Amino acid sequence: MTACRVCGGKIAAPAYETPAPALTSIMTLLNIPTRVYVCDGCGHAQCDEIPDIETFYDTGYRISLSSEGHDQIFAVKPDGTVIFRTDHQAEIARNLLDLPQGARLLDYGAAKADTLRKIIAARPDIEPHVFDVSTDYASAWNGWIAPDAQAAYEVPETWNGRFDAAMSHFVIEHVADPVGFIRGIHKLLKPRGTLLLSMPDVSANPGDMTVADHVNHFSEASLRRALAAGGFEVSMIDVTSFPGAFFAVAVRSETPARPEQDAILVRQAVERGLEICDFWRTSAANLEKRAATFRGRKVAIYGAGFYGSWIFSRIGNDVELTAFLDQNPGLQNTEHFGYPVSAPTAIAEDAEALFIGLNPLKARAAIASMPYLHRPGLELLWLEA
Ligand SMILES: [Zn+2]
Repeated sequence: MTACRVCGGKIAAPAYETPAPALTSIMTLLNIPTRVYVCDGCGHAQCDEIPDIETFYDTGYRISLSSEGHDQIFAVKPDGTVIFRTDHQAEIARNLLDLPQGARLLDYGAAKADTLRKIIAARPDIEPHVFDVSTDYASAWNGWIAPDAQAAYEVPETWNGRFDAAMSHFVIEHVADPVGFIRGIHKLLKPRGTLLLSMPDVSANPGDMTVADHVNHFSEASLRRALAAGGFEVSMIDVTSFPGAFFAVAVRSETPARPEQDAILVRQAVERGLEICDFWRTSAANLEKRAATFRGRKVAIYGAGFYGSWIFSRIGNDVELTAFLDQNPGLQNTEHFGYPVSAPTAIAEDAEALFIGLNPLKARAAIASMPYLHRPGLELLWLEA
């Protein structure tokens, strides 16, 4: 039994549950089980809170602090030009937030504030402000954000009612009290100030459901409800600009907003949430069976990204892993969970099985294009098989 973080409704039992370890969004393992609950009152899905959550984000969560990791690439154009995630976010934000001249803009949960920096580069008239729950990022802020426009751990009282707009990119999926989080931003905005929130859309990105520190998996239904409960009127929810993510624009309301509850949206969200939980339950059971077959034998995992890491979290102790294989040159010749990452062509000759850790929608076509992975004595094992 647990309580829904959005509507407060009781959720009797998890829709998906698997024993420790759990995989985090920064590809580390936590010694906790994964439990996903789907709320049929509002269409929200959620996981248990991770232990010692403050320390995790204060000192343990250094996403893209030292380098632009491969997961920070949004897309590669046909001519090979790389589009970084923060460039794309900045462009979406500028389009969706119609900021007046000289606006005060707050990046809430800013991390290095790359998105904000790129907005300022295009709109130098805007006054940038940042807040995060860590001091790790100060060196990335200094020099272009005034010292009194930076806040760590707590937002100063003087910031109440100060901002024309606030944005928070890929933060709310991590927080234990998302409605409280939204109310916290409400307080900082001017009347009719604008909020831009982005977060994963689990319906379009099913892998998100098993990410341990993504304790919230919003649906459109639960996002609308959370924004209303936090004191906002929803202007629009963009699901196309950033595939696999919601970009929601909402306006600070001065009167308590009525909780939005579209029964059809809620029902669709619940069905999709349960369907995704089914997929992961079936995959986990399937992997366990396959790992038993290959216990103590040499295998490789294709993919050092999310799906490959998840496979490792399920079978890493059972098999003799030779390597992760990955086509990304930036990952090759590095280590992942203490195992080498090599080019797919360098698969060990005595490997007897290859676990395919790719998005199930794309996996078969990707592997079909690599003839050297199709050889007698090497069994290919698929997540959804
Ligand atoms: Zn709910």
